[in-house]
Amino acid sequence: MTLGIYIQVPFCQTKCTYCNFHTGVVSRDRYQPYANAICREIADRLACAALNPTVSSSGHGLSRAESSITPEEVSTPEARQPSADTIYFGGGTPSLLDPSALAKILDALRTNYLLETPEITLEADPETITPEKAKSWLAAGFNRISLGVQSFNDRELQSTGRMHRRADITRATETLRIAGFDNISMDLIIGLPHQTRESWEQSVSELLDLRPEHISIYMLEVDEGSHLGKESLAGGTRYSAPAIPPDDTQAEFYDSACTRLVAAGYDHYEISNWALQGRRSRHNLKYWRREPYLGLGAGAHSFDGKTRWANVHDSAKYVSMIEQGISPREQIEPVTPEQALEEEFFLGLRQLDGIDLARIERDYSSLTANGARVRFAAIHRQIDSLRAARLLDLEGSRLRLSPKHLTISSSILAELLT
Ligand code: SF4
Repeated sequence: MTLGIYIQVPFCQTKCTYCNFHTGVVSRDRYQPYANAICREIADRLACAALNPTVSSSGHGLSRAESSITPEEVSTPEARQPSADTIYFGGGTPSLLDPSALAKILDALRTNYLLETPEITLEADPETITPEKAKSWLAAGFNRISLGVQSFNDRELQSTGRMHRRADITRATETLRIAGFDNISMDLIIGLPHQTRESWEQSVSELLDLRPEHISIYMLEVDEGSHLGKESLAGGTRYSAPAIPPDDTQAEFYDSACTRLVAAGYDHYEISNWALQGRRSRHNLKYWRREPYLGLGAGAHSFDGKTRWANVHDSAKYVSMIEQGISPREQIEPVTPEQALEEEFFLGLRQLDGIDLARIERDYSSLTANGARVRFAAIHRQIDSLRAARLLDLEGSRLRLSPKHLTISSSILAELLT
């Protein structure tokens, strides 16, 4: 199956108050060595070899098969497999990297993978965008920009430590359009400190005015280890934790956005995602459909259909390991049939089209593992009970979350898999 490729760039200009991702504010001097390490990870085919049964299962050090791959082999047609049809540069803030470094990474991918009319996305923060950069990105092959908007309200942006302001969003969008980008995604966050009904509706209005091809709306997840998370637990006002709108108000914001976006012509295709015709995120669909993807860079996750693994999180350690020819992979975990079955539900049901129960039953009944059959029977009982409560809908063999209860989707999915 055609791969999705994810490139992780774990650098940011500042640390947002709610974020505890493995991202850091580091000296710019570290950007180029990091980009070089990604190119080397691609060229060494370390990650690619992980999709090959000859790979070492220890995750530490190169297997003979990995270390013995020569540059000549890399350039043979056979070695160009597998193919990929989506590439996603996420972070962090990948738009901080020099455009030439981003182009070099894309060139390395082209050399080592068959790219089939790929969707190539770059996450970018509005304040990092210039006409020169936008032109370079397009020339390098990027055809989709995911713009980290979060809010159109300057007070909300400032209180969470974002570097951009409302005016930067409009300017960045214009710059991208002039450069020729016809596929832009924008995201908003519900639950930022100081967000009010009025400011939320205003953000949605301004977003719709810019008419991006794709929209993501996330509920704020305050990580306990973040500044905001610590303040929420321990008290205090420095990061405006007391100004976070209550949960029921946040749910109303989400419901209102659902109505307005659909009325504006957007297809609500995943709990947090909307798209104009033909503009669904091809890359993210792979995650929800359990299709294989390969993560490159520090902390990047991969899945080959049977096993999940991740690279080391620390970016300095990642660069050092790559420079020494050591595989950065760790946390290599085979997915059991029972886990795979559960993933079919908690990932698949995020899509508003739902999942095909008959297909899942067919796939998993052929497994010899008794555990998966027992698990499937238990999930079936939960489906009956959640349908009776009108939290799940079943039409033919297609099971989906009830559109009226998307704000409690996490609880429904948890209940389904108890
Ligand atoms: S830009 Fe993204 S990754 Fe970086 S600190 Fe903010 S939320 Fe975290």
